[in-house]
Amino acid sequence: MLMSNTPSLENYWMPFTANRQFKAAPRLLASAKGMYYTDVDGGQVLDGTAGLWCVNAGHGREKIADAVARQLITMDYAPSFQMGHPLAFDFAEKLAAHAPGGKKAGLTKVFFTGSGSESVDTALKIAIAYQRAIGQGTRTRVIGRERGYHGVGFGGISVGGLVNNRRVFPLLPGTDHIRHTHDPVRNSFVKGLPEHGADLADDLERLVALHGAETIAAVIVEPVAGSTGVLLPPKGYLERLRALSQKHGILLIFDEVITGFGRLGTPFAVDYFGVVPDLVTTAKGLTNGAVPMGAVFASETIYGALMHGPESQIELFHGYTYSGHPVACAAGLATLEVYQEEGLLTRAAAMADHWQDAIHSLKGLPGIVDIRTIGLVAGIELASRPDAVGARGYDVFTDCFKNGLLVRVTGDIVALSPPLIIEKEQIDTIVSMLGDAIKKAA
Ligand code: PLP
Repeated sequence: MLMSNTPSLENYWMPFTANRQFKAAPRLLASAKGMYYTDVDGGQVLDGTAGLWCVNAGHGREKIADAVARQLITMDYAPSFQMGHPLAFDFAEKLAAHAPGGKKAGLTKVFFTGSGSESVDTALKIAIAYQRAIGQGTRTRVIGRERGYHGVGFGGISVGGLVNNRRVFPLLPGTDHIRHTHDPVRNSFVKGLPEHGADLADDLERLVALHGAETIAAVIVEPVAGSTGVLLPPKGYLERLRALSQKHGILLIFDEVITGFGRLGTPFAVDYFGVVPDLVTTAKGLTNGAVPMGAVFASETIYGALMHGPESQIELFHGYTYSGHPVACAAGLATLEVYQEEGLLTRAAAMADHWQDAIHSLKGLPGIVDIRTIGLVAGIELASRPDAVGARGYDVFTDCFKNGLLVRVTGDIVALSPPLIIEKEQIDTIVSMLGDAIKKAA
């Protein structure tokens, strides 16, 4: 049945949506404030997913809205090829001051993009360009990981490991994958990082033996895989991947599009795990989701290696019309201020124990086969119904929404990632509503 305030649904081809199913029973949001959406019929929906892992400071932040409005009137757009504007430099400088791993990690060179997918393609291209610049031009292969998600560009789906993203489209040649780390048999219901699986990083050695290190430019992983079901790195895994990539002259890229900007209780996953890669991709929380934007943090070494040749030469032949967009920079600068003023980049650490206990209290409900939490993220894995993968998850999702809670499902895994302003009572509400929906879907 259509809601009362439903516009015509004919023309909008919706992304990552079963269009016909949705249009037969739409879910339409009309406004948002703090932890809540309001739907077109006035119903309140508690946001258990920070929109799409991006509204870390909560909705309707006036400081961000004011900055955006002011910037639109002051200067709506400025080209960024062979031109600049102060806000882009200012934002890059402020980001560098809060760069993943702090100043000592040296990830202080910032390349702006328009999204997470663009950040991924940018990082892959920078890695290949860097290898060429240091005389390693045969290193053009990029390695991803099974069950990784790196957006939807051809680069991102080629290194990604999500079969539905890959089965229809041709992929870049010269890509390969290390094994994923998901091992619910050995690691189920573990609180904290999984004990088993650090050795899975050694799979990089297999690919080095197969292809030759001299063909491999970079390996990209999400420190915590989000979109494929909240998969946590086993203890010691990222350290091992760092050591192996270094040993073989392979750059390490962390895709922090989800984990960046406070999601784990530290500013970045680099800080959480104490492992420093060569490139970090971000987007989403960069502007609190208010204006599309991404940013790639590159090491000073990489930037330095590319700043060679005639000064009139463009060092990296890459960029977007909207790289460093002034309105996005204004949103990002205001977002960073909100994060700092309210301590949001570390707030998840203070909430993590309550979050973990509350989410793990669901253990024992029918159909739950694993629960994983870290920072303010959770994955609740449900057993798939025979011959109907995803059906149980979809039922949980629609039931939660009907009752006023937004969750996200990937197949039969429920993923939660609320705004970092969440209070304990709201965590308890999420858990109680989700528990009811899981019982109904049994
Ligand atoms: N990388 C990761 C780890 C993501 O989770 C996502 C989106 O969820 C992306 C890249 C793609 O970002 P976007 O949808 O902004 O292109």
